Amino acid sequence: MQTLEEVLERYEAVIGLEVHTELTTLETKMFCGCKLEFGAEPNTHTCPVCLGLPGALPVPNKAAIQSIVLAGLATNCDIEKHSMFYRKNYMYPDMAKNFQTTQGPVAFCMRGHLDLEVDGKAAEERYGLKGASVGDEFENIIVTDDGYRAHVGITRIHMEEDAGKMVHIGGEEGRIAGATHSLVDYNRAGTPLIELVTEPDLRTPEEARLFMQKLRQIYLALGISDCSMEEGSLRCDGNVSLRRRGSTELGVKTELKNINSFKSLHDGLLYEIRRQASVLDEGGQIYQETRHWDPSAKRTIVMRVKETADDYRLFPEPDLAPYDLSDEFIQSVRDKLPELPDDKAKRYSAEYGLSAYDARHLVEHRSTATFFEGCMADAKGDAKELAKPIANLVINDVTAWLNANADADLETCAFTPARAVQLAQLTKSGAISSKQGKEVFQAVLDEDKDPKVIVEERGMEQVSDTGAIEAVVDAVLAENPDKVEQYKGGKTGLIGFFVGQCMKQMAGKGNPQIINQLLEEKLS
Ligand code: ADP
Ligand code: MG
Ligand code: ZN
Repeated sequence: MQTLEEVLERYEAVIGLEVHTELTTLETKMFCGCKLEFGAEPNTHTCPVCLGLPGALPVPNKAAIQSIVLAGLATNCDIEKHSMFYRKNYMYPDMAKNFQTTQGPVAFCMRGHLDLEVDGKAAEERYGLKGASVGDEFENIIVTDDGYRAHVGITRIHMEEDAGKMVHIGGEEGRIAGATHSLVDYNRAGTPLIELVTEPDLRTPEEARLFMQKLRQIYLALGISDCSMEEGSLRCDGNVSLRRRGSTELGVKTELKNINSFKSLHDGLLYEIRRQASVLDEGGQIYQETRHWDPSAKRTIVMRVKETADDYRLFPEPDLAPYDLSDEFIQSVRDKLPELPDDKAKRYSAEYGLSAYDARHLVEHRSTATFFEGCMADAKGDAKELAKPIANLVINDVTAWLNANADADLETCAFTPARAVQLAQLTKSGAISSKQGKEVFQAVLDEDKDPKVIVEERGMEQVSDTGAIEAVVDAVLAENPDKVEQYKGGKTGLIGFFVGQCMKQMAGKGNPQIINQLLEEKLS
């Protein structure tokens, strides 16, 4: 198969996502009072409504409606004041009612969008960026200084309910194939779920991944779900098709179902784009089908050919009245909107003079944003001056530590905001080098001591006394007259040798900037 880059020279990839999110932070299910609890004893949170017993009547959960309106407002959607619930009919044992209650053509939230910042390596996947200049606009993007900003339309966000969970026994890895029997747990049946559908506006696997990551950050900030891809409270389907460059018609798409990690989303779409290209190149045809991405085999396999909407016999739910949202209700939800990650990043840039890149990375996780703000509060008058070194610490050292240690917890660890401020002051003043700063960071975590104490105990303090350094520089130059000659003859690369010798004599504690400066003065 050809590489993505080769494929994208001839074809345009078109991607749209359907993102399902369980509203796990609610107390109760969508249409009954059963408790929401992940991992409870099977079938202990059920009642006549979520078991679909005859005569049981559903009552919508108002808190769930609040959550979906929050999601809509945070993703720039229009909130529809009048919408309805529908029945989507199908028979499968995970749904005892034999239909799923969902929404019809009009959902609570319609016509939204999110803007994605794509930079660095992620931007390299997009075709047509080579030779473009900052500010250029084409397709749905605008070129920025380190990549581009993409406008991604959101078709709708609708409310629905989750099905129960099947457990297949006897087959491989819990798959239905080869199973001898299956069990069903209805605890999850009726869990409030929102489904967000994007326009087919995404063009690369990286854009799809960034969209999901951004959406997850927003939902977490709203507090409407724990968004755990591992536990399945956040999952998505990736729809993808190819078309010849220049064509505006949509090609036939395939759908990757139930993707449960950002990496799988990226890798599955990447594979599917390359697979479709090789089928098309050989004169073959793409069939509209649902496929499954197998991360260990690194390929997609067919699950089923596509059913059409008609198969579901969608019709208005007779047991639920059309839903009306009042202006007061919508306003009351708007009043609850927290500061969203994008706004937070803008505020960091405005208040502390951080670059857009730094600010964006700080707000990527709620814990790092909270930590950074803790540091700024602690730094008081020095906040502006220390913002950059602290941002570096958080984005590099702290994030690497969090990524490498599954049980690392920034809120309770020994590296507190006050200690981060102290460490930033030590590096900023030149008392220790930034390389030593990394050592101190690790030592704070390991030994639970203040950075100042560690620097003192380890005798790390950098020598910045110009007089002392000058004496060493003079000695080194006097000891190496041949090298001095060579340097003056044009071999300026020898500067590294001189710096190294000085450092050696000062046991690594000399301020490298001052050493460099003095050497250059004396050698010129
Ligand atoms: P379906 O009826 O198959 O569910 P929808 O029209 O509801 O298809 O779209 C589902 C998702 O697939 C949306 O995110 C949409 O943007 C995307 N999509 C639709 N058509 C295409 C296509 N030809 N190629 C890629 N994505 C598509
Ligand atoms: Mg659909
Ligand atoms: Zn129930």
